[in-house]
Amino acid sequence: MYNKKMCELGNCRSAIRELFEYGKIRAKEMGGDKVYDFSLGNPSVPAPNEIKETLIQLITENTSSSLHGYTSAQGALETRVAIACSLNKKYGAELCPENIYITVGAAAGLCIVLKALNSANDEFIVLAPFFPEYKVFIESQGGVFKKVPFNESDFSVNLSALENSITSKTKGVIVNSPNNPSGVVYSEETVKAIAKILNKKSEEYKKPIYIISDEPYRELVYDGKKVPFLMNYYDNTIICYSFSKSLSLPGERIGYVAVSGKVEDQKNVYASICGAGRGLGYVCAPSLFQKVIEKCIDAKTDVAEYDRNRKLLYGELSKMGYECIRPDGAFYLFIKSPEKDANVFCDKAKQKGLLIVPGDSFGAPGYARIAYCVDYEMIKRSLPAFKELILEYKK
Ligand code: PLP
Repeated sequence: MYNKKMCELGNCRSAIRELFEYGKIRAKEMGGDKVYDFSLGNPSVPAPNEIKETLIQLITENTSSSLHGYTSAQGALETRVAIACSLNKKYGAELCPENIYITVGAAAGLCIVLKALNSANDEFIVLAPFFPEYKVFIESQGGVFKKVPFNESDFSVNLSALENSITSKTKGVIVNSPNNPSGVVYSEETVKAIAKILNKKSEEYKKPIYIISDEPYRELVYDGKKVPFLMNYYDNTIICYSFSKSLSLPGERIGYVAVSGKVEDQKNVYASICGAGRGLGYVCAPSLFQKVIEKCIDAKTDVAEYDRNRKLLYGELSKMGYECIRPDGAFYLFIKSPEKDANVFCDKAKQKGLLIVPGDSFGAPGYARIAYCVDYEMIKRSLPAFKELILEYKK
């Protein structure tokens, strides 16, 4: 007999993936120009040129078998050195290669960390609105998923709800800033307040409560916004990073876990991460891309294109009468549904070719997510459909 829970997961795709697959079929039937697909966070900006040049160089100049060979389970030493040095230089992080575990993206990083930390039905707190897969990742690693509501006025962290939700069973809190789906970047003040609560509760329960900082959008910020580096504010921090969005490499599956040098019992926490990676079979991330990352660690994506999309979409939708908060980071706009049930609203949008995702699975019913990592011209073409849609609610 197979695992019923896994079968259920396999049979019901996430709302995002469901819509993305629908969009592909619909585009074939109707023509791509009639479908405005805002479903998936697939970067529209190409990977920086350096990536392509490095790949060509590696393939043409390195003919040894090591190019495609296994690396150490936790990742090649040279790549871990490059990652640690880059974080130390940018943020004064004091990391060494023994703090880094290279993974196949942030998804694997999160699963590894959750497995490494969970001992027996531990609770992991997630701050709404959140990336829907957190629930799947936590429960698949045997943890208990617990969500904390947000402040509706600005999608900020509801600090008192966070404090009240922590119990003796709480093992960690997943923090995601810049946030998917709201685009909110947590301020330094918010980060300090979260750290204060967690320090107080760790003291009260006489055990560390970890921050698991999921940071795929760390570099995707606008208007010179700064993202506070959580390790500098809270000792028991473990970062799950990804190059999927920051270097537009989602299909290459590359990222890392970084354990702060100040984490309590750091050596054993890192060993647990190595053990969890081993247990899950997430060892030796793709070696060619480990080499690319080693050489391109400080490459940057061109955020100006996303910024242009952001300004157009936010500006035009606000003018039409959609309620939304101007996002400071990532590439999502989270709008308030003009009717109570965002599923009905998104279905109406779908009839007009607009593929946007209801907020329910993000822990925010009554909202909808628009991924603006798309072609600028498509946004322009989609605007009349957005206009028609909101007019239906103004009749
Ligand atoms: N975390 C967040 C907040 C995301 O938005 C995503 C992907 O969209 C992931 C994690 C997973 O990213 P990766 O491609 O690195 O597995």
